Amino acid sequence: MAVPKKRTGARKQATRRSHWKAIKPATTKCTHCGATVLAHTVCTECGYYKGKAVSIKSADYVAEEVKSEKKTSTKKATKKAEAKVETPVEETKVEETKTEEVKAESEEKTEE
Ligand SMILES: [Zn+2]
Repeated sequence: MAVPKKRTGARKQATRRSHWKAIKPATTKCTHCGATVLAHTVCTECGYYKGKAVSIKSADYVAEEVKSEKKTSTKKATKKAEAKVETPVEETKVEETKTEEVKAESEEKTEE
């Protein structure tokens, strides 16, 4: 293990420690409530980030969550409706083909 040859003097120690500084954190003002907030973080006062309600702390957040759930439910409903619409179309096609076959058979009978 390396051992220092001489004792470090007070001045040398002080000049080295002169660079030890506390860094002031980067802060900005919240766009929603105007409170001082750490940069790139959600506002701890109102729960907003970039003008949108992100945290449960904000009252608007719950309402938005409900809206998103409604949107998803409507999407599912539309998909089901589309599926219901598609099935009868296929059935009608099958019926049409059957009727065509019947017509063809009837035409063959008439030819005989
Ligand atoms: Zn805020």
